[in-house]
Parts: sequence; C-alpha cells; structure tokens
Amino acid sequence: MAPRNVVLHVADVHKNFAGLRALSDIDLQVEEGTTHAIIGPNGAGKSTLLNVCIGRLAPDTGAVVFDGQVITGKQPYEINQMGVVRVFQTPEIFADLTLLQNVMVPAFSRRDGAFRLNAMQALSGRNDIRDEALYCLEDVGLAAQKDAIAASLSRGDKRRLELAMGLVQKPRLLLLDEPTAGMSRHDTNSTIDLLKKFKRRGMTKVIIEHDMHVVFSLADRITVLAQGRIIADGSPDEVKGNPTVQEAYLGGAHP
Ligand code: ADP
Ligand code: MG
Repeated sequence: MAPRNVVLHVADVHKNFAGLRALSDIDLQVEEGTTHAIIGPNGAGKSTLLNVCIGRLAPDTGAVVFDGQVITGKQPYEINQMGVVRVFQTPEIFADLTLLQNVMVPAFSRRDGAFRLNAMQALSGRNDIRDEALYCLEDVGLAAQKDAIAASLSRGDKRRLELAMGLVQKPRLLLLDEPTAGMSRHDTNSTIDLLKKFKRRGMTKVIIEHDMHVVFSLADRITVLAQGRIIADGSPDEVKGNPTVQEAYLGGAHP
C-alpha cells in the first residue's frame, strides 16, 4: 500500500507553563483519511496539544506543519481558513438563533472571510449558503428542527449542531475535543455512527476522548500522552497490549 499523505505533523513540540512541563518532545503525524485518537489521563496535555495545533497557544520550541506548511506563528483564524476546524469541548453555539442560522454563520464567514453577526439579514437572502447549511443539518440528523431555537436543544443535539457548524467549513482536518463527554450512551452511540460516516468519506480527524468504547470504535491510530509526554503511539491493538499504557492510563485493566 502506498504511504499516506501526512496532513498534520507536530514536530518536536515543547510547551511549559510557568515551569510546569505541559508538553515535552511531542512528535506525531496524522495521516490523511485516518482517525487519530489522543488519549491520556487528566492533565496529560491533550488540550494543550490541540491548542498548539489551532494556533491558540504558541509552542516554546518545535513547530506544527499542516499540509506541508508551517502553521506555527499564524493566527487561529488563518489556520482555520486553511481548513483546520476544531469542535470545542463546550458547545459554542448561538443560543438565540435558529439551528439553520447557527450553521449559516460559519458558512458565511468561510466564504466571505469575515465574521459579522449583524450579517444575519444579508444572510437570509443567501440561498446558496442556506442550502449548504441545510445540507449539513441533514447530515447530522437535525434538518427537521432547522427552525428551532438552538437553546431548546438537548445536550446531545447541541453537539450535533456544533458538528454541523464544523462541517459547513469543509474541514481538511477536524479536531474534536471529547465529543461525547457528558452524553448518554444512546447519544454517544449515535455520535460514533456519525463519525464513522465521516470516516467513510475520507475525512481526517484528530479526536481527544476519554471513553474507550468511542476510541476503540473509531481510531485507526492512538497516541497516548501522560505528563506531557508520548508514552505510546500505534494501532489500537498495539496500544491495548502495551504494558506501560495499562499501568499509566488504564490502571492495569484491559480496556
Ligand atoms: P488534558 O487536556 O490532558 O487534561 P491540559 O492540556 O489541559 O491536559 O493540561 C496539561 C497541564 O498543563 C496540566 O497540568 C494543566 O494544569 C496545565 N495547564 C494547562 N493550561 C494551562 C495554562 N493556561 N496555564 C497554566 N497551566 C496550564
Ligand atoms: Mg483537556
């Protein structure tokens, strides 16, 4: 099989917070079309790593390369415009807007390069953006509720809405920070099914996740962080059988 294209390369990244080593010697590669999980106990550095990848935090040393281009030093919005889309841990939606309007906002800002909430009126006349947004709502199973106010959604549906807001940006790399945190088993399973659908389409994803059922249902490759270092990196089977991982993360129990 031909080697896959590397979409994201985190190259020798270090990050300290006032003497605390949050990330040390981090080197990892995400291949095109794969779902790459990053797991590890609380405080391992997972969110810090994601923030370095989207330009919210600058590494002390090292670099992040996206699609062959060094993105370290670029602004978050520039990295976003290159196709790196993060779905946040806390749903960041516009509570007072309808679902359709929620998805139209990021579609509009991607197209026109500007983020203007007062553009809602201008947006209402944009059938092209409306259609795109509707398509993404259909994709996550929320089209029937397109005119509902976002605040009225259940927690699981807010996550789906946020996913639609990510999809409409046509991500080349989708970063998900604990997409199923706080979800019921039912919502978790439907999120797994959704993410599997995106995987079949060839979407490249990095997923931070605590739920081992989710990780082992979706991941092609797993990187395990503990205390800011990579302690294992490999296929799900390799990681499952790794004694260091079992000790440091899984508490000796088989996942
Ligand atoms: P995880 O997402 O794996 O739980 P984090 O990346 O949030 O871990 O945190 C890694 C370490 O860095 C933790 O010890 C955390 O307390 C610390 N940390 C994270 N963000 C900051 C910050 N902005 N300032 C100081 N310390 C931080
Ligand atoms: Mg975190």
